Amino acid sequence: MTRIAENIKNVLEFYRMLGFESLPIKVKSRIKGSGISSKEAALKALRAEIGDCGRCKLSNKRTNIVFGEGAPDARLMFIGEAPGREEDLRARPFVGDAGMLLTRLIEKMGFKREDVYIANIVKCRPPMNRDPEPDEIETCKGFVERQIEIINPDVIMSLGRISSLTLIGDSKLKITAIRGKFFDYRGIHLMPTFHPAYLIRNPRDKWLTWNDAQKVLDMLEKKS
Ligand code: URA
Repeated sequence: MTRIAENIKNVLEFYRMLGFESLPIKVKSRIKGSGISSKEAALKALRAEIGDCGRCKLSNKRTNIVFGEGAPDARLMFIGEAPGREEDLRARPFVGDAGMLLTRLIEKMGFKREDVYIANIVKCRPPMNRDPEPDEIETCKGFVERQIEIINPDVIMSLGRISSLTLIGDSKLKITAIRGKFFDYRGIHLMPTFHPAYLIRNPRDKWLTWNDAQKVLDMLEKKS
């Protein structure tokens, strides 16, 4: 190990001794000569770590793992609960009917899908589109937590009850009570809102999600 690397290692070990698990640094660097950002590389490494996952019972019935997609340095992340049928077949998040509505929201907010990052709490489709069960969420949620840590967005919009309650860490809250209010997720602004599948069934509530989205846009503006 070179002397510089050894010094860095000593400093990091010192911080770990003080109780820091990660450093409050926004990673912007690119891996020299490769054209790949370090965030992109970290996401690829995380995907590789997930591998052909068999950590929970959802692995038996899935077609594909749906890791997530978008800009590794996105300022805005959308997090849903779990892939549905279309997502399972195409290995991409939010590409079915709910995905079309989410894409419309993203565009109405002034972004393209490629500008933001979209992921789910659980990476495999629950059979018959049932809710993911607590053991499945527990097994998988570390991966979305690491995606958030790598991307380090300014704002997260959590879509629906399962995503919002998992990230907030309180399973007793009601989505109707918490949507539209900012929460703190490890120093990142978290805005819970309705799931697009709910809005397809209850189109009269779309304006509430649009209100939530405008608060997110105001926050992004404030942080830029
Ligand atoms: N619903 C979700 O929560 N996630 C998807 O990717 C698709 C539908």
